[in-house]
Amino acid sequence: MKVPFLDLAAQYHTLKAPLDWAVAEVLDEAAFVGGHRVAFFEREFAQYLRVSHCVGVGNGTDAIEIALEALALPHGSEIIVPANTFIATAEAVTRAGHCVVFADVDETYTLDPNDVRRRVTERTAALLPVHLYGQPCDMVALNQVAAEHSLALVEDCAQAHGAEFAGRKVGSFGSVAAFSFYPGKILGAFGDGGAITTDDSGVSELCRKIANHGRTSKYEHEFEGRNSRLDGLQAAVLRVKLAHLDLWVARRREVAAIYDEGLADVAWLTRPAVRPDRLHAFHLYVVRVPQRDALAKHLRECSVQTGVHYPVALPKLAAYRHLRQSATPNAMSWDDELLSLPMGEHLTDQQVHHVIDSVRCYMP
Ligand SMILES: *Cc1c(COP(=O)(O)O)cnc(C)c1O
Repeated sequence: MKVPFLDLAAQYHTLKAPLDWAVAEVLDEAAFVGGHRVAFFEREFAQYLRVSHCVGVGNGTDAIEIALEALALPHGSEIIVPANTFIATAEAVTRAGHCVVFADVDETYTLDPNDVRRRVTERTAALLPVHLYGQPCDMVALNQVAAEHSLALVEDCAQAHGAEFAGRKVGSFGSVAAFSFYPGKILGAFGDGGAITTDDSGVSELCRKIANHGRTSKYEHEFEGRNSRLDGLQAAVLRVKLAHLDLWVARRREVAAIYDEGLADVAWLTRPAVRPDRLHAFHLYVVRVPQRDALAKHLRECSVQTGVHYPVALPKLAAYRHLRQSATPNAMSWDDELLSLPMGEHLTDQQVHHVIDSVRCYMP
């Protein structure tokens, strides 16, 4: 039995009629950039998250960068970022003119609030927690650190559409939050796309201007901005898919529950640690095992595709060699052990059980 890690074609085929219709409508109207579909999607996504404002942008990396720029933090501020995340999180900090400060992650693979507290200096201006793999960070503790030191809080929600902390959707906690709609994410477009969400109307307006050439009207530009827009096709696709997001997250959580039960007694494997006040959206189901590459090879031989998120902790990358920061031991030692099992609403129970059986017959 084949178990694909991700199956975007399967998702398309389950929604082919409404998606084809939505795309055809955009083509008929040639409503490629801007237009009412983008505005509708922004409103619907804001309503879904229960936030006041949503601004569609070109991709998730831009969303973080533009959100940081709109906060108008002093140039060269320190911004605390987890040492285990996709490079985009840190990249956006540098691109926005600030300094990356890595903090360690805890057993949930999200920012360890105690380590964050230790890294705050006079120059720290913001925390940039990532709800990695779909599990919300400890927003109570991080909010407390932010409040104590008057720091902005910017959420990276690229992997956590639909995730909740204490009954509230992520993307509604920070001063501002960033989402990605890259095709492989929980809510994915037919290309690149992203969004910024906030309850602050000033931040929202500024993000919208930055993303659209600093424009106030067609040929009036208040300042130099940039071009980063969610296009009409992506908005049309996302509107169709948004209606299914909760169902998809629910199915991801079912798959995770089957993995949890089937792998509970495998002593050499560490399952995801989920805290009770968090609704984990399971963008990824990540386990930790010794000799990860050998298990991945064994699974490949059983026709099970896996992934690694991420194989190199950010402080080890050539891009960050110059930083020479103090240790983030969890992130630095776990990158050799992380393995992402197939996850998504495309999986049948039989496929999930095949993955479990294949893991169980492996002898480390
Ligand atoms: C995907 C991702 C991003 C970047 O989103 P893009 O749309 O690919 O630019 C940022 N942060 C995290 C954690 C991601 O997984």
